[in-house]
Amino acid sequence: MIDPVEARELLADRLREAEQRLAGTSAERAAVVDASRDSNADDEHDPEGATIAYERGMLDVLAGRLRQTLADLAVAERRLAAGEYQVCERCGGTIADDRLRALPTVRTCRACAGRTR
Ligand SMILES: [Zn+2]
Repeated sequence: MIDPVEARELLADRLREAEQRLAGTSAERAAVVDASRDSNADDEHDPEGATIAYERGMLDVLAGRLRQTLADLAVAERRLAAGEYQVCERCGGTIADDRLRALPTVRTCRACAGRTR
């Protein structure tokens, strides 16, 4: 079994990483938006405008993924506090230590994850 102290560290590491990357992504998006305002770009007819729209879209996708990671981390912390961190939410079995170390926010055991829905 994973010690709650180790579990908390695993989650804290992921949280720090996700928050830093999200801050970086937000700064980059703001820079792209500023640059597009200066160039007075037209998304439809100016190739540069299309590039800016594409970059902005990619950054939005990335930010969305990072926000999902933060939400997953919040759920994992609740599960940890409730003493259910290693309990599979589908079958109630135990999630293997190595699986949680590799994927600290995972909520199902390997067998359930492999099962088709
Ligand atoms: Zn399971």
